[in-house]
Amino acid sequence: MESLIADMQQEGRVRSGRVADAMRRIDRKHFVPPGTPDHMTYTDAPLPIGLSQTISAPHMHASCLDLLEPWLRPGATVLDVGSGSGYLTAVMGELVGESGRVAGVEKHRELTEHSTRNVTAAAPHLLKSGRISLQAGNALDDSFLQGLGGPFDAIHVGAAAERLPKALVQQLKRGGRMVIPVGPQGDYQVLQVVDKNPDGGVRIEDLMYVRYVPLTRPAEAGQ
Ligand code: SAH
Repeated sequence: MESLIADMQQEGRVRSGRVADAMRRIDRKHFVPPGTPDHMTYTDAPLPIGLSQTISAPHMHASCLDLLEPWLRPGATVLDVGSGSGYLTAVMGELVGESGRVAGVEKHRELTEHSTRNVTAAAPHLLKSGRISLQAGNALDDSFLQGLGGPFDAIHVGAAAERLPKALVQQLKRGGRMVIPVGPQGDYQVLQVVDKNPDGGVRIEDLMYVRYVPLTRPAEAGQ
C-alpha cells in the first residue's frame, strides 16, 4: 500500500498530502474480493468486484480525490455516485472529518451489502458515526436523488455518463465541484471537472481520457 501511494506521489497523481494520508488509512485489501493475492491488490489496475463491475484503479481514485481535495474539507457534504466497493466513499469520509457527510449510492443492492462489509472491516467508525452512508438506489432516479440530502459541496461519479446529467449538476452547491467521466459506453470517455460558480453558472473542463463502466438509467438498471 505504502509503495503504491509513494509511486503515485512521484508520478504527480497525488499532490495533496491530505489525500495520501487518507488513502493510507483505508487499506485497499478490504475492498477487493476475498482471496485476492497482495500483488494484485496493490497493483495499479482495476479489479472485478462482481456483477460486471470493478473497483477502479488506484491512480483513478487518486486523481479524482486530488481534483476534489479542496472541496473535501472538514464539514463538507459529498455524494459518491456508483460507490461500488465503497473504497472511495470511505476515503472521502476520512477527508471530510467528523462533521462531514458522504452519501455513497450504488444501483446494485448486493454491492451495497459488500461495500458495507468492506467499510466495516476497514474503518467501522465511518459507518457507526453516520459520517458515511452506503445506499442502494439509482442516482439517475429523480425522487431517490432528491432524498439524499443535497445539494453537495462535491460530487464524484464513478461510472461514465453519455451526456452530463442535468439532475446531478442541480445537486451541486454553488461553488461546488463534480468530477464525472462523460462519453460513449464501451469506448474512451473524458474525465470532466464541473465547477458551479457562485452565480449558479457552470464551467466545464475536459481533463483526460478514461475508461469507466456505464452510468445506467433506472430503466436499464440490470446492466
Ligand atoms: N468507485 C467505485 C467504482 C465502482 S464501478 C469503486 O472504485 O469501487 C461504478 C459503479 O457504478 C458500479 O458498481 C455500478 O453498479 C454503479 N452504477 C452505475 N450506474 C449507476 C447509477 N445510475 N446509480 C448508481 N450506481 C450506478
